[in-house]
Amino acid sequence: MQHGISRRTWVQMMAGVALAGTRVGAFQGARRDRVVIAGGGIIGANIAYRLARRGAAVTLLERSAPGTGTTANSFAWINAKKQPRAYHTLSQFGIEAWRVLDQETKGELPIVWGGSLEWITDATLASRIVEVNRQYASWGYPLRPLDAAQMAALEPAARFDGLRYGVHAELEASVDPQGATEVIVAHAKAAGARVVHPATVTGLDLTGGRLRGVRTTTGDIAADVLVIACGNDTPALAKLAGIDVPLTRSAGILVHTTPQPSTLSRLLLSPLGQIKQKRNGRFVTGADFGNTANDDTSIARGEQFLQRMAAVLPAMGKMPVEKLTLGLRVLPKDGFPIVGFADGHPDIYVTAMHSGMTLGPLVGRLAATEILDGVEVDLLAPYRLSRFAAGTAR
Ligand SMILES: Cc1cc2nc3c(=O)[nH]c(=O)nc-3n(C[C@H](O)[C@H](O)[C@H](O)COP(=O)(O)OP(=O)(O)OC[C@H]3O[C@@H](n4cnc5c(N)ncnc54)[C@H](O)[C@@H]3O)c2cc1C
Repeated sequence: MQHGISRRTWVQMMAGVALAGTRVGAFQGARRDRVVIAGGGIIGANIAYRLARRGAAVTLLERSAPGTGTTANSFAWINAKKQPRAYHTLSQFGIEAWRVLDQETKGELPIVWGGSLEWITDATLASRIVEVNRQYASWGYPLRPLDAAQMAALEPAARFDGLRYGVHAELEASVDPQGATEVIVAHAKAAGARVVHPATVTGLDLTGGRLRGVRTTTGDIAADVLVIACGNDTPALAKLAGIDVPLTRSAGILVHTTPQPSTLSRLLLSPLGQIKQKRNGRFVTGADFGNTANDDTSIARGEQFLQRMAAVLPAMGKMPVEKLTLGLRVLPKDGFPIVGFADGHPDIYVTAMHSGMTLGPLVGRLAATEILDGVEVDLLAPYRLSRFAAGTAR
């Protein structure tokens, strides 16, 4: 591996995580290898892939086509700049899980490694970010401060005028979210998963208080476990089993260009907004990490935005806009992921998270461990749905 920990260390770490987990008594002896997954976004795809590789009988059902939900509209920056420390650590494992997946899929993933370059021109903000980054670095996350000349040496096409603080986060990456999901689904199929789309899960057979199967638009399917990975529709399906999944609305707009000659080697986090170039040559850029109130997705708005971004990447001023996307983040009410079996439902596994691009391959691995091995992985303990019921949500 070029960056980070070796594959062997990773495997050892993950084995440690699983062993540190608690055995789930309710499961012992119960059959759990017929798993239906509702939702073929980045989360459902990764869970299907891991379960299939471990020999489970997996059926992945997707209402539309794989990767066309929130996943398609994601900026898909893979990073661990997260607080608090437990969430940061989870995200660092998330980055490493992409590396393992990239090796397993032999370079087929449309992923761009090389890290991110971030720079700040405002003095007050710069001193705040320096402090936060020192903390991340102390948690083992390499963040190398660079001056404008060093930044320009890495990305000659960009301008770093007025830079007060610049930093290279070398572990980070970006991915084409829909393309990656398609690759993962193809590998899930190759490992034996049955993938059906379009197919919508419309009902649950809970005869006798336990899951017997699901009703779908393509017929009934017997199941020992249902994984709900329906993104913003997770609450609707979970509700059929009386499970409440509290999400909040958060929209984000991105501008996509037509394919361009190779210009950038890594992701840019500029004072005006973030920019990446995908492996297929298309640029993706946006400025709003929060909830946007303006849902205008006109080409004119995109052109205006590219003119603005030309101050940091001059070539952007001449790039044709292909489309704008308005994506609805899958955002649990407290901002943190929801992963795991719902309380009182040892056969219904619920997922909903923002940062699903960073966490997808890791969640696939950990969910497969929890579903097939009957353990609760310690790393996921802060992210159970029960925190909302108990009033302990942060
Ligand atoms: C603007 C924006 C920027 C983002 N940037 C980043 C980022 O930089 N880094 C990062 O890590 N994350 C980012 N995210 C978040 C990330 O994209 C999401 O967390 C992730 O895509 C969620 O994936 P998912 O599989 O849970 O949901 P989805 O991709 O929405 O997949 C759910 C799927 O379930 C299907 N479905 C729904 N109901 C049913 C049913 N009843 N039966 C069958 N199928 C069903 C849907 O058709 C859909 O395809 C961003 C999101 C947005 C919107």
